[in-house]
Amino acid sequence: MLNNVALFTEPKSINLQTIDIPKIKESEILVKTAYCGLCGTDIHLYDGKVPFANYPLVPGHEFSGEIIKVGSKVKNDLKIGDRVAINPNLSCYDLQKKLCYYCEKNRKHFCVAWEAIGVTLNGAFAEYVICPSTVAYKIPDNVSLKAAAFMEPLACCLHGLNNMTIMDSDVVFIIGCGPIGLLMLSVIKATTSCKVIVSEPVNSRRNLARKIGADVILNPLSDEIVPIINSETCDKGVDVAIECVGLSNTAKQAIGSLNKGGKALIFGVADPLSTIDLDIHRLYSNEISIFGSFTNPNTNMRALDLLSKDILTPIPIISHEFPIKRIEEAISLIKSHVDNVNKILINP
Ligand SMILES: [Zn+2]
Ligand SMILES: [Zn+2]
Repeated sequence: MLNNVALFTEPKSINLQTIDIPKIKESEILVKTAYCGLCGTDIHLYDGKVPFANYPLVPGHEFSGEIIKVGSKVKNDLKIGDRVAINPNLSCYDLQKKLCYYCEKNRKHFCVAWEAIGVTLNGAFAEYVICPSTVAYKIPDNVSLKAAAFMEPLACCLHGLNNMTIMDSDVVFIIGCGPIGLLMLSVIKATTSCKVIVSEPVNSRRNLARKIGADVILNPLSDEIVPIINSETCDKGVDVAIECVGLSNTAKQAIGSLNKGGKALIFGVADPLSTIDLDIHRLYSNEISIFGSFTNPNTNMRALDLLSKDILTPIPIISHEFPIKRIEEAISLIKSHVDNVNKILINP
């Protein structure tokens, strides 16, 4: 059986290839890809900026599809024809290893044996993907394959929000409304009654933020952010700031915008070498907390649940769909930072 894939042979080099699909192991399933999100991580993989990537690699980690083969020892109730979304992050549980220190503590995102489909293992910029059966989640009947391709990034947002406590009376500031910032906004608006201020330079993304329900929408290229935040918060600052860009200056802005007792979530993926200066006296006296968030341990079911309850939809965030063979065009479109480019889905 053959598989058409986009193979990243090394940074900045993509080969469209037809390769043999290896025989699946007893505990694995073979999934026919329906949709796979093109994510910032894929752009970092293309640029060679993911330290733990293994080239040659077929990327693609945000995907949904249909099961077409099931290994003989697959235990969970999965069968051929099932529609599934995949959690790409594998730990000792999925790799059938003795549990490591972190897996024992149910902090499997720090697993010492961690692998990720589409980052260290071949992923879903391909017609078919081999996955351990333990990372497949059946898609509820009322959720489309397209929406289900957002399970993974939504689950990442849920994990980030789980890492801190948000109260309904909080004012939240989201910096950056790319697909992840917009998903974060969608989750907060669907599950809390917080007032949300967003900052985003791209016009179409500000319009999407407005449709999703952002209360105050700022353009950092033309608005004076600090005075507006002060006037929206009685000069106190925001209770929660979520950085969804991955730059030093926006991380600094997130921390700088906080009220006493405020919490900053650093959610954007920064360059491994970027740093910021911290006013540590202010951290101490204002009880400022800074949170990180890595991947999506234990939040995938909840992400599918939110999609099936129909209280949020990621579909308007999709701006383009491309077949695998046009993946380089999709990557350059994202890198061009033009208006009207939001989430891009790749389908075989
Ligand atoms: Zn991603
Ligand atoms: Zn482990």
